[in-house]
Amino acid sequence: MNAAGVRMVVTRARSRGTGASLQGGGEKAAPLRSGEAAAEGRKSYGPVKRQRKARRLSVAYEASEGEKGEGPERLQAPSWEPQDWRLQLDNIRTMRSGKDAPVDLLGAEHCFDPSASPKVRRYQVLLSLMLSSQTKDQVTAGAMQRLRARGLTVDSILQTDDSTLGALIYPVGFWRKVSRRLSSCGVGGGGLPGQASLASKVKYIKQTSEILQQRYGGDIPASVAELVALPGVGPKMAHLAMAVAWGTVSGIAVDTHVHRIANRLRWTKKATRSPEDTRRALEEWLPRELWREINGLLVGFGQQTCLPVHPRCQACLNRALCPAARGL
Ligand code: SF4
Repeated sequence: MNAAGVRMVVTRARSRGTGASLQGGGEKAAPLRSGEAAAEGRKSYGPVKRQRKARRLSVAYEASEGEKGEGPERLQAPSWEPQDWRLQLDNIRTMRSGKDAPVDLLGAEHCFDPSASPKVRRYQVLLSLMLSSQTKDQVTAGAMQRLRARGLTVDSILQTDDSTLGALIYPVGFWRKVSRRLSSCGVGGGGLPGQASLASKVKYIKQTSEILQQRYGGDIPASVAELVALPGVGPKMAHLAMAVAWGTVSGIAVDTHVHRIANRLRWTKKATRSPEDTRRALEEWLPRELWREINGLLVGFGQQTCLPVHPRCQACLNRALCPAARGL
C-alpha cells in the first residue's frame, strides 16, 4: 500500500475491533425491504444552511465484495482520492478523542441488553436503528429503555397493541416535521403532533417483527440485501446492523452527518445529492479498513463541531484544510 492511497480490498467481510459482534456461538445466521434514506440534497459544497426535507429513495442494492466473500485479496488503486484527506481524518480523530458525543454514549452499540441472548441482542440492535431514523440519539435511547423494561423480543413486540407501542416509542419519529407540515396545510386537527408518522413507525416495526418471526426464527438476516428488504430499514441501518449485530463490514453507513461532512470536506469527487450517492462515492476510494470507523467518527464530529447549521469552524482543526470553511 503506498502513501498515495493504494487500498487493499478485502474480499471477505470480517469483524473489526471497534464493533461488537453479537453472533452467538453455534447460532446459525438466518438471513432478509424497502429503501428509506434521509436525503439532504444540495447544489454546492458550502455549509448546509438548513435541514432538508427527508425523501424516500428507491435503493437498488448491489452486494458488496465483502458479502460476496469470494476470490483472493487484491490491491486496487483508487482512480481518485481527495486532497489532504488523511490529514483531515487525523484532525477529526484528534477532535473526537474524548469520545463524548451522543453517538458514543447512546448509539446502537449501547442500546441493547448485554445479558440477552445473541439473537435477541441482534433484534434489539435492529430495532434501535429503526427507531433512530430522523431521531436524536437521546430520544432513541429513552424509547429503547422503556421497551427493554418490558422485555424486548420479537414476540413481546408482536403481543403489544399498536397504541401501547406508539406510546412507548413516542416521540421517536418525524413528528416535529410532520406536525409542522400538517399544521402549515391546515391539516391535523386535535391529534397528537405527528400522529401519522408515529403510526408509520409502529407499522414498520410490527411488519418487520412479523417477517423476522416467520422467516428468520426471531433473528435478523445476515445480509444487506435481506435487511433492506424489511419494512422501514434503509441502507444506513442495514450496514450498521451488519457491523454491530453481525460484526461484518458490508459498506459505509452514511447518514445526514456523514453525507454533509463528506461534501464539506470534498471527500466526494463531485457534490452528491443523497446519503446513498455519498456512500457509493466514498466506497470508491476510502480504504476498506476505515469503513467501520468512519460512521461513528463523522457522526460524532457532526453532532459536536461540524453542525448542520452554524458549524463551529473557529474551533475546528480542519479549518485551514476545509473548502467549506473558506466561505464562512
Ligand atoms: S472547518 Fe471544520 S467545522 Fe467548519 S465546515 Fe469544515 S470540517 Fe466542518
